[in-house]
Amino acid sequence: MVLPAPLPVLVPVSGGGVFPVRRIYCVGRNYAEHAREMGHDDREPPFFFDKPADAILTGGAAMPYPTQTYDLHHEIELVVAIGRDGADIGEGEALDHVFGYAAGLDMTRRDLQAEAKKAGRPWTFAKGFDHSAPLGDIAPAAQIGHPSAGTITLTVNGVLRQTGDLADQIWSPAEAIAFLSRHVRLKAGDLIMTGTPAGVAAVQRGDRLEGVIAGVGTVSTTIS
Ligand code: MN
Repeated sequence: MVLPAPLPVLVPVSGGGVFPVRRIYCVGRNYAEHAREMGHDDREPPFFFDKPADAILTGGAAMPYPTQTYDLHHEIELVVAIGRDGADIGEGEALDHVFGYAAGLDMTRRDLQAEAKKAGRPWTFAKGFDHSAPLGDIAPAAQIGHPSAGTITLTVNGVLRQTGDLADQIWSPAEAIAFLSRHVRLKAGDLIMTGTPAGVAAVQRGDRLEGVIAGVGTVSTTIS
């Protein structure tokens, strides 16, 4: 090696151990009410973007307010942690590939995303920037099962901003896994952020973000 190898990205697992992260895939517009608030209406095939694994923040670590934006938004999301490799996975077998679930935040430079959309350009700087993925501990499916319903909420400084129910996802985790695995080979260590409910809005330095997904876990950070 001509350089030191990058350190592995490790997410704590509730009950013990750590989950090594390989890639982060994200589903866009996966709750109808959020799709509408972003100006879309119809049920379209799912689409994906990604974040670098080292964008993850764990343990409630503070998130530095990023450069190059005046409109940093929160998006609370159910995160699926893949535990078994597979390509072309059928919906019926998809959940067998899941190690567990977590609550996560898909932090977004909304102003850069709007510019990218307008210009037909990629969302890399809008979504894939440093520290853009605060994540809670991963709860093993062996302990919590595979949640298909339950409230998902985000408060900022104690005030409710986002609320929804996992049952209102347009594409279920099993459907997202099946679709994604037809395009890329999923590997143990991959994470899938499964989209956000309505209520996305801007945060400022000093804001305290606390997300809760019933039956799954929590995620928190403070913008610094
Ligand atoms: Mn999102």
